[in-house]
Amino acid sequence: MRIDIISSLPSLFESFFASSILNRAIVNKIVKIKIHDLRDYSENKHKKIDDYSYGGEAGMVLKIEPIAKCIQNLKKKRKYDTIIYMTPDGDILNQKKCNELSQKKNIIILCGRYKGVDQRVRDLFIDQEISIGNYVLSGGEIPAAALCDSIIRLIPGVMNNESSALFDSFQDDLIAPPIYTRPENWNGNKVPYVLLSGNSKKIKEWNEEQSRKLTKKKIKIIK
Ligand code: SAH
Repeated sequence: MRIDIISSLPSLFESFFASSILNRAIVNKIVKIKIHDLRDYSENKHKKIDDYSYGGEAGMVLKIEPIAKCIQNLKKKRKYDTIIYMTPDGDILNQKKCNELSQKKNIIILCGRYKGVDQRVRDLFIDQEISIGNYVLSGGEIPAAALCDSIIRLIPGVMNNESSALFDSFQDDLIAPPIYTRPENWNGNKVPYVLLSGNSKKIKEWNEEQSRKLTKKKIKIIK
């Protein structure tokens, strides 16, 4: 999979993609991430990428020209399955969407900043708009990073089998069961006995039962 991210603050991604399983996925060539600095596509001598909004609303707007140039350049090089704009008024990200996107070959993610992007960018170049929740951040980089993490970990080969994403919450519309590690007893707070029993059938049944109970209790968050 290849992900091209268009950003006005590319340095925000550096440590994110340099760590943990995302870095392993990159090193193992399962995923290729290219970050494009919007300023590199500005034809303005001061590398300007934003301007005042028509109508006089407060706040700057990302201009169409550098974004258009970047997207058009990328589209000349390869076919993209989808072009995504991260925006608080987009469809709220869920596991179903992550699963769907993890099967794509080439995607572009556009990060906004300031008041957002010129509406014509959204009208002319964007296939889908995704939000990471009903609150507003100052830029699309954290939302884009969250989106990348949530889809890359689903690509076969990225996580090892025992920590497989298939057992996490929301896959199959279920919440994952509670988990414990050593010590068995911490200040009188004990690990449920069944998990220490070594009886794999009983453990599986217990996990399934806990999953069902938790899902019922927390139903609101997966709706
Ligand atoms: N004026 C916009 C908010 C702009 S926030 C509005 O009222 O809807 C600046 C940028 O941050 C956005 O362009 C978007 O790319 C990003 N952003 C902020 N909150 C986000 C969220 N919840 N989900 C996805 N992207 C978000």
